[in-house]
Amino acid sequence: MHFHIITLFPKAFDSYLGESILKRAIEDKKIKVSFYNPRDFTKDKWKRIDRPPYAGGPGMVIQAEPVIKAIQRAKGLRSKVKIIFLTPSGKQFTNSYAASVAKKYKDVIIVSGRYEGIDARVKKVFKTDEVSIGPFVLTGGELPAQLIIDTISRHVPGVLGNLGSIEESRTASPDVYTRPESFKYKGKAYAVPKVLLSGNHAKIEEWKSKRKTDK
Ligand code: SAM
Repeated sequence: MHFHIITLFPKAFDSYLGESILKRAIEDKKIKVSFYNPRDFTKDKWKRIDRPPYAGGPGMVIQAEPVIKAIQRAKGLRSKVKIIFLTPSGKQFTNSYAASVAKKYKDVIIVSGRYEGIDARVKKVFKTDEVSIGPFVLTGGELPAQLIIDTISRHVPGVLGNLGSIEESRTASPDVYTRPESFKYKGKAYAVPKVLLSGNHAKIEEWKSKRKTDK
């Protein structure tokens, strides 16, 4: 899976992609993440990319043409690419959307905005999915892009060490326990639910189903 990220701030990705499972996935070449900065595609001597919105209003808008050129560079000659355009007013991002993208595509372009957003004509040039990661507004698309990379990557074979780790394919519970079986905190004992120690798999599945991780 190759993620192509259109962003003005590629360094914002360093720490998250440089740790743990995603770091290993990149090293093992299970996933690849490339960056395209629209600033590199401006004609402006100062590499300026934002301009005031037509019809007024606060904030600045990212110009369409540098973003279009950055997407075109990312797309190259590929005919089958999924282009995700991040916006808080988009369709809610879900696990099933992530799984379907992972299944059908090898190249995903994620367009990350800033300020008041990106000139809407980008969406007229390319067919995009307008996607939101939730009902709140962030200052930029870099966190949403990382969240999407993470979620889609979990569905790429080999990214999770153990295939059984994919929660969608088993009964996963939001409540998990490990050693010790019991401990005391401020005089009160905290024990692992007995059913988990019972060895009775049917009962354990039933217990997990009641507290199933929401998909
Ligand atoms: N007025 C813009 C709009 O409705 O799309 C919002 C601009 S927001 C301040 C700046 C950028 O952050 C957006 O262009 C988008 O890339 C990203 N962003 C903010 N909140 C988001 C969310 N909930 N989901 C996805 N992207 C988001």
